[in-house]
Amino acid sequence: MNRPRVVVVGAGFAGYRAARTLARLARGRADITLLNPTDYFLYLPLLPQVAAGVLEARRVTVSLPGTLRGVRLVLGEADHVDLDARTVRYTGPEGDAGTLGYDRLVLAVGSVNKLLPVPGVAEHAHGFRGLPEALYLRDHVTRQMELAAAETDPALRAARCTFVVVGAGYTGTEVAAHLKIFTDRPARRGGPRPRWLLLDVAPRVLPEMDERMSRTAARALRARGVQVRTGTSVREATPDGVLLSDGEFVASRTLVWCVGVRPDPLVTAVGEPLERGRLLVDPYLRVPGRPEVFACGDAAAVPDLRRPGEFTPMTAQHAWRQGRVAAENVAASLDRSRRGRPYRHRDLGFAVDLGGARAAANPFGIPLSGPAAGAVTRGYHLAALPGNRVRVAADWLLDAVLPRQGVQLGLLRSWSVPLDTASPELARVPGGPDPTPAPAGDAPKTHPTDPSDSAQGDRGNR
Ligand SMILES: Cc1cc2nc3c(=O)[nH]c(=O)nc-3n(C[C@H](O)[C@H](O)[C@H](O)COP(=O)(O)OP(=O)(O)OC[C@H]3O[C@@H](n4cnc5c(N)ncnc54)[C@H](O)[C@@H]3O)c2cc1C
Repeated sequence: MNRPRVVVVGAGFAGYRAARTLARLARGRADITLLNPTDYFLYLPLLPQVAAGVLEARRVTVSLPGTLRGVRLVLGEADHVDLDARTVRYTGPEGDAGTLGYDRLVLAVGSVNKLLPVPGVAEHAHGFRGLPEALYLRDHVTRQMELAAAETDPALRAARCTFVVVGAGYTGTEVAAHLKIFTDRPARRGGPRPRWLLLDVAPRVLPEMDERMSRTAARALRARGVQVRTGTSVREATPDGVLLSDGEFVASRTLVWCVGVRPDPLVTAVGEPLERGRLLVDPYLRVPGRPEVFACGDAAAVPDLRRPGEFTPMTAQHAWRQGRVAAENVAASLDRSRRGRPYRHRDLGFAVDLGGARAAANPFGIPLSGPAAGAVTRGYHLAALPGNRVRVAADWLLDAVLPRQGVQLGLLRSWSVPLDTASPELARVPGGPDPTPAPAGDAPKTHPTDPSDSAQGDRGNR
């Protein structure tokens, strides 16, 4: 008899955990296939440290073939799910199309950058949702500081070393906190002084977290010299700067868009009921009326059994634990001797890394700040990382004793990391499988091997 085919789409927190748990529970009794555009799991919470040069990019990745024994990896992006035919159609990394048939399906495609209808933002801002965007930002910020140092026009110099981050959730807060430290180092060697602004429409930073964490983070940011502007948003973005909602125009070449995420658009196309763009599931993480289809993580609206009527928020903690429950329930659906269980969570608290030795954390509801929070936060990340712990710890140690390497590699260009993309995990390449044209005026004007297409000549680069 043929073994049942289990297909997991997406290898983030939810999908990686689901595939890993399934490999343990159903190895030898089911064919487990994992479809993902990259060959790694990305530990997103440490991405700000990659942008700030604390960690090398590969440290925050965990190899899928290297850690998931008994799971077949298919490289590609799902572009259509046919629930009646039980197939997933995908496009591979070289543009080749393929189809996977399934008996059980786990959808764990996560989320993408959230756009707001603000003029100029899609053209001039960059998101912070994937490794290409983090690497681009590191290069871009380094480049702006270097160009500012050589600039003779004081207004242009000030614009180049003014950096605007929109959205003071944990992503924007960590990006501003870490990158301020990154840009302070050249300033201490006599370079231009950086100016960082962190904006949010909400009345406080970390608006989704408890007020104590919010106060700790705001204090640390201000002490570091980040200008926190709450109750402020962006009215328009232009190539020369940002018009704020209070009428002030901030001359800048950098707009980092961290206003949040929206569920990956693939789940919209599935054609089943959604809750704010997330695929609605029952507490067993099954899509109602489709007992063979499961969904978890950011892309799924999972009922919060501890707060009836609400859904679990989009966090790594939930996605990681839901991935395991989804796998257990898939295994139970294949083997009657196993029992499924509903997803129920206990909040373990949250940690926001503010760079240096500082953080804001509330493990098990205990509020911490300063170096104690910093130690807890780093310890938490080391424990939560499914691989690479020694390398990450070694990078932290090196960063504590050596100066950071402030060089730009110039491998990623502005147009290769557009804000409006359903694939923040892949950099766009000329002639690649993604047929979406780059925004006007921001397209590669020269052949990539043309020497004039150097990082410094990146026209689309703000
Ligand atoms: C910078 C940053 C910092 C964060 N820090 C924290 C934090 O400190 N704590 C916390 O709890 N949460 C944090 N989060 C949120 C957390 O990372 C997400 O909630 C979590 O990643 C959701 O897990 P997921 O598995 O649903 O999605 P993801 O981890 O995003 O994984 C989705 C996977 O699906 C793949 N995929 C997407 N589309 C397709 C497709 N069509 N076909 C195939 N594969 C596809 C993607 O490549 C990816 O591998 C942070 C997020 C960001 C961006």
